[in-house]
Amino acid sequence: MKGKHPKYRPYKQPAGGWGAAAATAKVLMQQSVLTKGSRALLSMNQPGGFKCPSCAFPDPDKRQTLEFCENGAKALAFEATKRRVTREFFQAHTVSALRDKSDHWLEMQGRLTEPMRYDPGSDKYVPVNWDDAFALIGRHLRGLDSPHRAEFYTSGRTPNEAAFLWSVMVREFGTNNFPDCSNMCHEPTSRGLPPAIGIGKGTCRMDDFDVTEALFVIGQNTGTNSPRMMTNLVEARKRGIPIVAINPMPERALIEFTSPQDVVQMATFGHTDIASEFVHIRLGGDLAFFKGMMKVLFERDAAGEQVLDHDFIATHTTGFDAIRADVEAQDWDEIVAHSGVGEDQIRRVAEVYVRSKATMLCYGMGLTQHQRGSQLVQQACNLLFLRGNIGKPGAGIVPIRGHSNVQGDRTCGIDDQPSQQLLDSVEKVFGFAAPRQPGHNARRAVAAMMAGEARVFIGLGGNFVRAVPDTERSYAAMRGLDLTVGINTKLNRQHVVHGREALILPVIARSETIVTSKGEQALSIEDSMSKVTASRGVLEPASPDCRPEVEIVCRMAMAALPRTTTGWAAFAEDYDLIRDKMEAVYPEMFARLNEKLKNPEGFHLDVPPRRREWPTPTAKANFLVLPGLEVNDGVSDDRMLRLATIRSHDQFNTTVYSNNDRYRGVWGDRMVLFINEIDRTARGLRVGQKVGLETIFGDGITRRVDGLTVLDYPISPGAVAGYYPELNPLLPLDYRDAISETPAAKSIPVRVISDVGAPD
Ligand code: SF4
Repeated sequence: MKGKHPKYRPYKQPAGGWGAAAATAKVLMQQSVLTKGSRALLSMNQPGGFKCPSCAFPDPDKRQTLEFCENGAKALAFEATKRRVTREFFQAHTVSALRDKSDHWLEMQGRLTEPMRYDPGSDKYVPVNWDDAFALIGRHLRGLDSPHRAEFYTSGRTPNEAAFLWSVMVREFGTNNFPDCSNMCHEPTSRGLPPAIGIGKGTCRMDDFDVTEALFVIGQNTGTNSPRMMTNLVEARKRGIPIVAINPMPERALIEFTSPQDVVQMATFGHTDIASEFVHIRLGGDLAFFKGMMKVLFERDAAGEQVLDHDFIATHTTGFDAIRADVEAQDWDEIVAHSGVGEDQIRRVAEVYVRSKATMLCYGMGLTQHQRGSQLVQQACNLLFLRGNIGKPGAGIVPIRGHSNVQGDRTCGIDDQPSQQLLDSVEKVFGFAAPRQPGHNARRAVAAMMAGEARVFIGLGGNFVRAVPDTERSYAAMRGLDLTVGINTKLNRQHVVHGREALILPVIARSETIVTSKGEQALSIEDSMSKVTASRGVLEPASPDCRPEVEIVCRMAMAALPRTTTGWAAFAEDYDLIRDKMEAVYPEMFARLNEKLKNPEGFHLDVPPRRREWPTPTAKANFLVLPGLEVNDGVSDDRMLRLATIRSHDQFNTTVYSNNDRYRGVWGDRMVLFINEIDRTARGLRVGQKVGLETIFGDGITRRVDGLTVLDYPISPGAVAGYYPELNPLLPLDYRDAISETPAAKSIPVRVISDVGAPD
């Protein structure tokens, strides 16, 4: 659809720049909070202020006056919005009518203001007071014949104190059913990294960016999903540091970026070229690419070049010979075919890697959301081990986390597979018998709902039913529950796809103040690089009837646990008491927690691999072999394309701020299919044509989405892309990473259905 089309026109400007500035101003005006929002933004990510409620990218050691990005501003504007979802709103809308509304429309209605209970008679939500709401929850939970029939979901927005208490309440209740949002994204990091390095977290800090000699950005759309990292990439480029961007989609910000705070660039419409090497990899071709790079290193080592860190390998690793044998056995033609990258480019990138004495490898969902995502993350470690790129300045593995406190939640006990050591400590500190059987992650929670085993779902934040795979089946399962509870700031799909009984509980937002009988309370947040910082809101809560997450958890616990001796009431008033217990349960990790949080700069949690200490079974870093060159099962259908579900630039997880995606040239449409021109013409499709997609997954269930507009996009051949969560109906619950069970949402096997019923 060449030329000027209102909805689809290529975005030629660099990412960031005036586009970002305009979008920031626009969203503040759209939500009628230009003054209030601008004032709050001056406190966001600042010492003594509040942590951005959006992604988990860390604050730089040296902060700028404006320490936020366009997407952080959107998250704040939608929290601070003047719009309110009142009892009058619910009186005017049946839930059935709300169900037909788009995610964006629901989001745009504004902040929830009071607790609401679903009334099946009128098919509407009606006001309920907090006491009755907790009584209803308590009745349902105490009425279950097994605690394992309840699912307790945690969104990555949940701060440490609430997450810790949630983990204690649920275990005192008797289960480890902790589906959480990281199950959908970085669980392969949390489950894949420990066997390799001994911890499920990244090994770098922000100051590593200042001394690194090469940066790899793999399967991550930095300009949209962690925009402040663009500052580090721009600074690196200005230092002449090579950046290798590896992605099936040439995302705008990985190519050109204008720093909105760079007055000269803004005044001159200048920009910085970001990727010094863009690797247009085949979707799922990362394993073959990693092995290609390692093969070059082994060849050059065999030729006598000093390209491997043999001291590091000998001192700190196991499994080197097995990796060498596996990689050397790979054939170059196969590597090129499976990676979709030419041997010359692989050798060129390997040279970039060899010239660097300290390399950081940053990655996102493009590595994790595959059937062998956890093992693929381990292959990234293999590559880093070969040159000793862990445990030295400027080097390491850098999972770029999605949600602001998703790492903190896991650190504070949100884990369906808790260690016996943690359970022992919880028992010692709280005096109740902790459940020892592993619980449910997100996939298992949905499966339990589908099987009718689960009866109650409580979501501490988030939009679970919209985020999980197999939408139609998951919706039906959620509707079959006895009770669903959504604890949120704004209206979302979870509230309109609900159980027989349902509650909506409005929560105080991250940017708002929490004042109890003990005065103003601070929260703590852990970022992607294991830094824990205090967060204090600056705005008045949206409604006097919104309650803090901590209070909601405490009152729910008192309703569900009639014989509890845990000091829930005291915790709700004084968050220092919660942190005292966090220190008691995690004496090493959270030693002197309250004291440390008084430092507005926060503190880093210990990450032993930074000291080249490896809490693995071998007490070493482990090279781990993943045989072959593919991270997904083969599919014998020559019409098959691999679908990657992606986020637009105006979206954060399932939160849709607008139907635009300017960097990809889409305005006002979320039902689009990005396809390579070669694959489009090969199927006789026209740009602008409406098509359907059907999943190829031999479980006898038809999964199909229609009404997608075909758009040419330079995505790597053999792959197509479309928006999450609209395309989640195509993602089978069991199409997942083998180890972490994370949905393999970046490689769904599909075929295009052009004219209704006729696959192309
Ligand atoms: S980079 Fe992430 S944490 Fe930082 S302001 Fe933007 S959205 Fe918020």
